[in-house]
Amino acid sequence: VKVGCEALSPFADGQLDEPAALRFEQHLALCPQCARGLGEILVLDDLVARHADRPRRRAWRGPAAIGAVLLVAATVLLFLRRAPEARPEVLVASLVPSELRGSEARLSYGPADVHRPFAPLRGGARAAGGSVQVLGRIEETGDRRATAAAYFVLGMPAQAEVQLALLPESADVLSDRAAALLELGRGLDALALLERALRLQPGHRQASWNRALALRALGRRGEAGRAFLALAVSEGPGWAEEARAKARDLEP
Ligand SMILES: [Zn+2]
Repeated sequence: VKVGCEALSPFADGQLDEPAALRFEQHLALCPQCARGLGEILVLDDLVARHADRPRRRAWRGPAAIGAVLLVAATVLLFLRRAPEARPEVLVASLVPSELRGSEARLSYGPADVHRPFAPLRGGARAAGGSVQVLGRIEETGDRRATAAAYFVLGMPAQAEVQLALLPESADVLSDRAAALLELGRGLDALALLERALRLQPGHRQASWNRALALRALGRRGEAGRAFLALAVSEGPGWAEEARAKARDLEP
C-alpha cells in the first residue's frame, strides 16, 4: 500500500499503524510539503495545548499565524513522542525552518536542501527548545551526514564540519563541508574542497552553488557572476531566481 500526502493528518494524530507510519516517514523525508505541513500541525497543537482551557479544535488549516521564521524545534518533543522510531532524515526535516533559510550555502543532504528565501537569522534564534533533544536523537542513529546537516541547519557550522571531516570523501560530503567552511568565513578552504567535489562529480548541483558563493567571498566577482548566471539556467524554481539576482548584484 502506498502511503502519500493524504496520510499526513492521520500520522500527526497517531492514527496510523506501525507499518503505515514507517512508510509515511519515508514519504516525509522526500516531501517538503508534508514536512512543512507536519511542522505547522505540531506548532498549532502546541499552541492549543498551552491554552488548554479553550476547547480543543483542529483548525490547523486556517489562516495559521505561522511566523516568518518558524522553528519547529520548539514543538518537536510532541513529534518525538508520537514517532519514537523516526528516521534521521525525518528528524532533520523537522529542524528545517519552513519559510526562510539561515545560510546562503546549500547542503546536498536532501531534507535540508529545499529552496527558501535566504535571510540571515539573528544569533541564538535558531537552536532553542527541543532542538537539542532532536540533535541527540540524530546523533544516536550514528548517521554523521544527518548529524552534520542538523548542526548546520541549527547554525552550528563548526560542529557540522567536524562530523563531515570524519566521513569518507565524496562529492556530497565535500560540498557540505565547504558549505560549513563558507559559514565560518573560510572561503579559500571551501573553494579547494568544492573544486575536488566537482572533479569527482562534474555538475554537482550544491557544489556548483557553493563554489559561486566561495568565488564571491574571495572577491572574484567576475567568475562568481558567471557561475551564478550558469546556475540561473541550470537550476530549478527558487534557486534559479536567487542565482539570477546574485549574478545581477555582481555586475560591474
Ligand atoms: Zn507529501
